[in-house]
Formats: sequence, C-alpha cells, structure tokens
Amino acid sequence: MQHFSIAAVIFAVMSRLLIIAFLLSALYAKAQSPLDHAGCKHPEHIIQGLQARSQVSADFMPVRIQSQELRIILNPDQRYITGEVEYVLSLSSSRQELAVDLDAALRVDSVWSPVGAISFRQNDLQLWLNRGAAGWQADSLYRFTIRYAGIPPVNPNGFGSFMTAKHGPDSVPVLWTLSQPYGCRDWWPAFQALGIRADTTRLVANIPIGMRVGGPGLLKRIDTLANRVVYHWEHAYSMPPYLLGLAVSEYEVLEQRIPIAGTNDTVYVLDYVYLEDTAYAFPRLRTLLPPMLQRFSDRFGPYPYLREKYGHMQISIFSGGMEHSTMSSMGSWDYSLMVHELAHQWFGNMVTCASWRDIWVNEGFATWMVSLCLEDLLDNGFWWPGWKRLTRESAWRVPHGSIYVRDTALTTTIFFQRLTYHKASFVLHALRYQLGDSVLFAGLRNYLNDPMLQWAFATTEHIRFHLEQASGKDLRNYFDRYIYGEGYPHYLLRWTQDNGQLFLHVQQQQPNPQLFPFQLDLPVRVYLAGDSIDLRLPFAGEQQTYRFDLASAVDSLVFDPDINILMLPAVVQRQTAAIAGKIKVLTGEGLWQVELPIDASPNDELQLFDLQGRLLWQYRPAAGERSLVLPWEPNWKAGIYVLGWQSENDRQVQKISLLNR
Ligand SMILES: [Zn+2]
Repeated sequence: MQHFSIAAVIFAVMSRLLIIAFLLSALYAKAQSPLDHAGCKHPEHIIQGLQARSQVSADFMPVRIQSQELRIILNPDQRYITGEVEYVLSLSSSRQELAVDLDAALRVDSVWSPVGAISFRQNDLQLWLNRGAAGWQADSLYRFTIRYAGIPPVNPNGFGSFMTAKHGPDSVPVLWTLSQPYGCRDWWPAFQALGIRADTTRLVANIPIGMRVGGPGLLKRIDTLANRVVYHWEHAYSMPPYLLGLAVSEYEVLEQRIPIAGTNDTVYVLDYVYLEDTAYAFPRLRTLLPPMLQRFSDRFGPYPYLREKYGHMQISIFSGGMEHSTMSSMGSWDYSLMVHELAHQWFGNMVTCASWRDIWVNEGFATWMVSLCLEDLLDNGFWWPGWKRLTRESAWRVPHGSIYVRDTALTTTIFFQRLTYHKASFVLHALRYQLGDSVLFAGLRNYLNDPMLQWAFATTEHIRFHLEQASGKDLRNYFDRYIYGEGYPHYLLRWTQDNGQLFLHVQQQQPNPQLFPFQLDLPVRVYLAGDSIDLRLPFAGEQQTYRFDLASAVDSLVFDPDINILMLPAVVQRQTAAIAGKIKVLTGEGLWQVELPIDASPNDELQLFDLQGRLLWQYRPAAGERSLVLPWEPNWKAGIYVLGWQSENDRQVQKISLLNR
C-alpha cells in the first residue's frame, strides 16, 4: 500500500530540476497527514478502532482455504454489489459456528452447501454459520456458497474499500476496491484476519459491455451476454484475502513480455490504463518497468508470479496505489509508486506480514526498494542521495513512536508514513553499511525462500533471524533500538591531531533522560590535502576514543559522509587542547607569547577581553602557525584578562595574567 508517492513524484518533474528541492520538501510535509489522526480522539475513530479490534478469535476461523470463488455483478456508476462467494476449506478444530467477516450493511440471502442450506446469523461485522447438530468438524473439507447483496459501507478507518469515481473528459465511471487492512468485509464475505491464505482464488465479474475489470492471476475467458460481459480471472498462487482487488472502467490495454536477462524467465505484463492517460503511461510502462523487474530479479530471485502475470489497473485515488496480487492498483504512474507496488510482489505478497504490528516487513521493504532502483538505474548523484537525505529527515520528525506498531486499531497508525515507510526503509538502507551488501542481500533471499515463510507469513523476528544467520552478528540491539524502540542516537565527535596521530572521541548523546546505546559501526571520512580516508568506528557504549597514525595534516572531517546512519545530525568539533600553561608573558620588551597546542587553521582567531567582556584585541594567526609572539598594546594595564580562541568548530576561553614591568 502506498497512500502517496515519495521520491517518485520526482520523476514527474524531471524536466524541472530547479524546483525539485521544493517539491520534495512539499511531499514530505504532506506526509504529516497520517499523524493528524494518529492521536485522534474523535468518536468515529474510536468506534472504528473498536471495530478493527473485534476480529473473531482464531478458534472460529478456518485453518486453510483451498479455494475461494467470488462471483459478483457490478456497475461502476453505482455503489452496490450483488454477489456470491463459494468456499472450499478445512478447519483446525471442531466447532459449532464458523465466523466470516462481513459488514451488516451487506445482507446475506442464503448459505448453501451440497447437502443443503446452512443456517446463519449476522451481527455488525460477522456472519456466523451454523450446521446445526452436525457442527463443523476438524480436518473435514467443506464446500459452501454465501449469497449476499447491498450497499458497501463507507468505512473511515481505511483507504476506501469500495469506491466509485469519474475520470477523463467524458467523466467515465470507475469502480475499485482496496481492502487492506480491514476492508474485505466492506464488500465481500471474507476471512480477513492475517494468518489465513487461500490456495486458489477465482474472480468472476459481470460488468457493463465496453468495460474491463482487472483481477488476480490470468484472464481465463470473457463471456459476452446481451449488454454485459463476464470476466473470469483465476489466480493459482496462495494469497491472503486483503490482496484480492479489482477495478472496473473503460480501459486501454498494454501487453508486454519482458525477458529477464541471465535467466530463461519472461514476465507477462498486462496493464489497464485510462484512455486519457495512455500517451503518458504506456511509454513509462514500456521503458521503466523492464529494468525494475530485472533489478529485483537479480537481487531477490525470480518474480514470484512467473506462471501468471504482473500488471497495473488504474484507479482514481490521489497518487497512491495498492499491491493487489499480480495486478497493482495505481492512482498515478509515478516512478517510485511503480517500483513500490512491484517490490511488494516479493515483500508483502509472497511473504506477508504476520500481523499489522509487523507491517514494516511489507512497507519498509517496498519503500527501501525504491532506493535500490534510484541507486542503480537512475543515479546521477542526485536521486539516491536525495532519497537518503529526505527519508532520514522525514523519520526524524517523529522522535517518539516505534516502527513496530503497538496499537493496530487505526489504519492511520498502521500505515503511518514517517515510521512504517520512511524510518523502516532507512533502517534497511542503514543495514547495507552495517552488514555489507553481499551479506544483507543473501540474508533477505534466505528470508524470501524460507519454506516456512514463502507464501506464508513473517514477523520482525524472522527478518532478524535470517540477517543474523547470514552475517553471524547479533542484531538484537539494532532491532531493539530501531524497530521496537523509539528515538535516534545523537553523536558528538571531537577530534584533534598531534604528532602524526589523529584522535577521535565519539560520545552518544540522547535527548531523553535515559540513554539507550546503539551498537553501530560509525563511518567517518577524513580529508587530507587532496585526498580522503574512510574510517569505520565500532561504537557500542556511551563514549569511545580512537587513535589513528596519520602523518598528513587533516583538513577536515565528516561524520557519516554517505548518509548511512539513522541518527540525528551529528556535531563535529575540532578539539583544541587546553591553552592553560601555554601563555608566556615577556616583560620588559612589550611583547607576550602564545604557544598554540596545534597548528592554527585558516579562520582561527585569538581574542582578548577584559573582565567586563569588552573585546580589546583580535588576531588571526597564519595557517600552520603555532608559536605567536605578539606586541603588548601600550594601553593594556597589568591584571587579569580573558584570552579566547575561536576555531571553526570550537571556542575556548582562558583567563590569563598580564604582568607589567
Ligand atoms: Zn506499500
């Protein structure tokens, strides 16, 4: 799910580079909107929150859905659905009633099995099926069909489960669904709790002639009736119900077969695009999609749905999109949105978050994978650094709250842009420096190929397990601090060079009273005359000092030069050793002498104040100067003065005595 695009919209304005910085800032500012509701106490949100919590207990849910077939009648200019869903499923335990998620706004007409009618009752959010004395038995296979109809409710705790709109100069109607996270029940009787997948899904949609409906898997056939058409979509990959989506409108079709270099694989791609947008979208789909598919296949393994397709179906939500299984719903054709929804086919669809608390294992990855494309496919030294900088800055704006979602009642909290998307994606980006690319990508491929997780569900701990296995490192601190924990480390780096040695002192500072040490390797780049050296500082505690032999004079030093650490802006100071004891006053000759502890740099300045703080004198030593012999102004009287030394990153003051003859 992506409810607005990030660096992606960049590409809509590639020709207008000058205003890009402004646009990016504006986009990130817009990202505040989910927070507006996160702490909301509006009664409607509380009610919806409670509804979200009222998932039925696992005891009443099926263990496995062998197949689900949804047969529906839709008119995109009407907010109404008539349908039936046929299930073939088995249960983990025997029980009297089986619960199906369905909003009471949709009324059930009947429930039939091959041996007769099944009695049922409906409450606000569930349909309860009762087989009478026979009950529902564990490990038996059941087939039954639920018939229903009604006006899908408008659920404010979601992204619009069932929506209609008009588009284009001719106001063509469009209808689409978007069920993540709690919206299946707003338009079809589903088992929407995470943990349940269907092995096979069929969508049979009866729509007005002249329209098309996008769906999961392969389009098996189209039946033509008098003034209607019936689309038969069939999807033979395991899918959690929230990934079933459809969109109905008048669409132009683009088909491609994209070969994946280095393999024998070809990805069949099918796109449904609004007529008025084909001139813009088709060239983008032809040119931008193949390298994305190649890139992700190289990094993460074959496209997960090779036997079927990938595709897009256009909908009319602002900029966002949704990674419906094998056919993403697209509110725009932004570059990063295209990457994001494609990335989900690996992270989110093939391996799905086990709970909405772990939503970052879907969204953090899809957001991070945009940066992989920016780095390799479009990097001109602008887009990728821009992504890193803006993503980190967006995360900073939330000092509290964790990536791990502690309260999953509200959609706005689960899909909180700055944490679930931006912070989580930067946490993954930062792991590239901590672990190295080969280890990180090997660990992630192992995660995707884990037979317990593939076409199943994963938690935060599964990610940690596979990265620890691949790296041999203990990542508990990293995950505790960045995923489960709150806040960001803040570093103060002081450095000095003396007698061919570079001293670095790093101190972690925390805005909170309590200090949570982050165990990280910290990158520092040292600039010498015409050259630079990269240092890696393993840092585990509150403060640590490092010493390096370095004969050349250091010009300057940059902490985290390539934006690889999730931290607040670091402070770097060139440390000046104490000047105490270095002052010599020569009497009798009208001169005094200062011995600097290190060579002066350009712009260093000596200042002399009286005890009232009045500046009496200032002097800039020449670069490299160390021993200064200075005239004693005739009007200075014997007594106590304050000598200040101002360097680029530091300021020191020292009381001195000037003795008169
Ligand atoms: Zn997403």
